[in-house]
Amino acid sequence: MSGKASWITNNRLKETTAAEFVEKLSQGIQAFCDVDGMGGRSIFPRPYAPFFKDELVRQFDKLSIQDRLDQLTVSQEIKDLTASLMAMGAANTVDQGAFLDWVKWWSLNDYSLQNFGDRQARYKIHEGTGALARAIAADAPVDLKLSTPVDAVEQSEAGAIVRAGGAIYRAKEVICAVPLAVLHSIRFTPALPPAKLEAAKTANVTRGRKVYFNIRERIDNWSGVAPPPYPVTYAFKEDDFLRELLGRCCKTPRMSRQLLRLIAAIGVSAPTLAMIVA
Ligand SMILES: Cc1cc2nc3c(=O)[nH]c(=O)nc-3n(C[C@H](O)[C@H](O)[C@H](O)COP(=O)(O)OP(=O)(O)OC[C@H]3O[C@@H](n4cnc5c(N)ncnc54)[C@H](O)[C@@H]3O)c2cc1C
Repeated sequence: MSGKASWITNNRLKETTAAEFVEKLSQGIQAFCDVDGMGGRSIFPRPYAPFFKDELVRQFDKLSIQDRLDQLTVSQEIKDLTASLMAMGAANTVDQGAFLDWVKWWSLNDYSLQNFGDRQARYKIHEGTGALARAIAADAPVDLKLSTPVDAVEQSEAGAIVRAGGAIYRAKEVICAVPLAVLHSIRFTPALPPAKLEAAKTANVTRGRKVYFNIRERIDNWSGVAPPPYPVTYAFKEDDFLRELLGRCCKTPRMSRQLLRLIAAIGVSAPTLAMIVA
């Protein structure tokens, strides 16, 4: 693996090879997930059936990312690297992100950092993800209603009724794919189970952002990470689009200062940084 990596640990900037970075980060993730001596594999043996081992899911459900980081006996450097990735994945503070969310994600990616990177970020639809949605819509003989929030869903023996913006839609079945956090704003008849409603009310809404920076200078493969509470916890150079740098942040002004520090490590000159478009 070619390229460089920079990371902040104990408030100091370190530079090394991409290979060492991946090795240390993998070590951290493995330690993080290994609550069972099997790298977390016993919790989601069937990743697409997350409740297959319901009792284990219940056992670890209350653990936050921070709780699990506190249990780790790895070096501070590896802990910092791990926390950087976890905060990015949770798109939230590590005390709000769930340990299990990460383990499930890890299992869906075959416990491999390479697969994780490839599946989440590497391969893209050339025309943008919207093109996929448009192609699906063009393929389906449906009447599409956009900007029409559903107010209520009523289900009975006779079928289902969906109420949205004063209109009524009748159907044999309803597929509900709204995000968890808005589920409680729709009136369901019969009512949703109390536990599901409670989860919807307390659901974490992501606070993360993804920002692309276009820089004029061509740079080699590069990753830069910093542990929370740094606002950008993870940044990397896109594989296919050489001029793009990706980072995630919460606050833009602090983010630019931190990115400046990270990018300085790879020798991009200050005038080039001024060309970065956030
Ligand atoms: C900053 C950020 C970066 C991300 N980066 C990546 C990435 O690099 N790779 C990756 O794989 N994933 C990424 N994700 C995750 C990905 O975007 C989500 O997993 C995916 O969009 C979830 O799809 P969904 O259909 O479940 O929900 P959504 O895409 O949220 O769709 C839910 C839909 O329901 C609609 N809706 C809400 N309320 C109602 C209502 N009352 N009536 C009718 N409709 C309603 C919403 O308008 C929305 O269109 C990222 C997410 C964020 C926030």
